[in-house]
Amino acid sequence: MTQKAIIPANYRMLISEESIQNRLKEIGAQIAAEFKGKHPILVGVLNGGVIVLADLIRYIDIDLEVDFIRISSYGDEKESSGHIKILKPLSADIKGRAVIIVEDIVDSGLSIQFLRNMLEAYGPSELKFATLLNKPSKNRVDLSIDYIGFDIDDKYVVGYGLDDKQFKRNLRSIYACE
Ligand code: 5GP
Repeated sequence: MTQKAIIPANYRMLISEESIQNRLKEIGAQIAAEFKGKHPILVGVLNGGVIVLADLIRYIDIDLEVDFIRISSYGDEKESSGHIKILKPLSADIKGRAVIIVEDIVDSGLSIQFLRNMLEAYGPSELKFATLLNKPSKNRVDLSIDYIGFDIDDKYVVGYGLDDKQFKRNLRSIYACE
């Protein structure tokens, strides 16, 4: 099934559906090996991270739990304001648990810095970060991201969970808006 009808002319394909799935398979296998016997909780950061989480967990062949958190920072803007709020807290008790936060994209890094500081306070045994995309040239804080799908240039990207004014999250590949 083609998605041509919902791909505007100014979108250029950056990462294909197949490349995304192949990379998630590799990361899934790595997480499975590193977290065997640890029953990790994978936390999807809403809204964008839901697609990454849904595909990634099916490539992790060990027992795991799933939870979600929702934070705000951008609204419909394209730059981070740095003012982050929790819109939906975690449901799980992460004290003493191995936790992997799953993001769609890391840009300034302020969101994951905020999540790290907040979640460390709950006393997880391990707190790791996975992101499908990272924009190294935009990172404003010293980050240690444990699993990165792809490093990309400073472009606004959409599809595969990433929105264009709340639309286009359902595209299966990732596109740069030109
Ligand atoms: P950070 O706090 O690292 O600056 O931003 C992380 C959040 O900003 C992401 O979870 C995502 O919601 C949004 N974001 C950053 N860059 C992009 C982009 O290129 N495209 C889209 N759609 N969202 C982005």
